[in-house]
Amino acid sequence: MKFGTKVIHAGVQPDPTTGAIMTPIYQTSTYVQAAPGDHKGYEYSRTHNPTRTALQQAIAALENGTHGICFASGMAAVDAVVKLLKPGDEVISTFDLYGGTYRLFTQVFAAYGIKFTFCSLSDIEQVKSKITSATRMIWVETPTNPTLQIIDIAAMASIAKSAGALLVVDNTFATPYLQTPLDIGADIVLHSLTKYMGGHSDVVMGALVVKDQPLAERLIFLQNACGGTPGPQDCFLVLRGIKTLHIRMERHCYNAQHLAAFLSNHPKVEKVLYPGLANHPGHQIAKQQMKDFGGMISFTLKGDRIQDALTFLSNTHLFSLAESLGGVESLVGHPASMTHASIPKAEREKSGLTDTLIRLSVGIEDIEDLKEDIDNALKAI
Ligand SMILES: *Cc1c(COP(=O)(O)O)cnc(C)c1O
Repeated sequence: MKFGTKVIHAGVQPDPTTGAIMTPIYQTSTYVQAAPGDHKGYEYSRTHNPTRTALQQAIAALENGTHGICFASGMAAVDAVVKLLKPGDEVISTFDLYGGTYRLFTQVFAAYGIKFTFCSLSDIEQVKSKITSATRMIWVETPTNPTLQIIDIAAMASIAKSAGALLVVDNTFATPYLQTPLDIGADIVLHSLTKYMGGHSDVVMGALVVKDQPLAERLIFLQNACGGTPGPQDCFLVLRGIKTLHIRMERHCYNAQHLAAFLSNHPKVEKVLYPGLANHPGHQIAKQQMKDFGGMISFTLKGDRIQDALTFLSNTHLFSLAESLGGVESLVGHPASMTHASIPKAEREKSGLTDTLIRLSVGIEDIEDLKEDIDNALKAI
């Protein structure tokens, strides 16, 4: 089945009792048994719920995996993956990791004796030099947030494989429409479904996808044992959202490519970070491993006045100032004063997070209106 057919049909079938074409919201905590142990596969909703089952199967199909495992948030999914480890184990990842993941690693799991090493994952030799006999995982995001670096998934897979480590790919920014990491060597794909997969900024949820039976069994065990499971209403919303994933992503990519070109030629803009631009350092790898280049753009303003960035932010009207990304509506963010404000300026700037860096989550509105909105805000500086 092709992707556009899968998003509509995978994992779902008409409801067996009524024929309802849309998977019902099974708003129930428990299920009646005919006799002890004689049930229909459902005993208690932390363990199994039919709405969640449909969503898990749909996501597994989209990522070309065998098992989808959903969680109450992207962070609960990250938490479950780290719980595969034990004290003394090591994880290699990147400095420009999603802030919440970095916080969970360094402020929660480090205290349990798990060691986290951060390096530049785009420097293959550097990654190899960080491998030790205790390395159990390489943790990749690509494109990264907010500097939109591209990490070579296949190269990371081969390093992980020779080290006997698992490769985890957080596929939140790309979605399976753009890349399917399990096909090129990843062991675990992670999603914040809150973003493009849900796509409508109305739900918080996470997921893991794998294609290895023992790994699936352990993660399903952790999902039930630790209990960070989503409710059926939220599963329904994500099921509904992914039915339009392919056409939303197509438009996100189209709009972002046009806006990136527009920004590149704008006299007030210093640098545009978008993997779809030929001058982006990761452009060639992105072309190989992605179908298109996504809906996220970062750019910096000429000069280094934070006030200019703040003026820009208070003069956009269609781009709303907010955290998060991946919804149908356009959002704008300023990492230095928002998501990354807790990191000292000198540290921030080491990873390219300057005071005038602005991040756009380009929505699916009409491109002419988006361009005009950005142009007007730049004129206000
Ligand atoms: C948002 C996000 C997360 C965390 O997901 P939540 O649903 O907010 O818990 C993890 N990784 C990336 C790349 C994200 O953007």
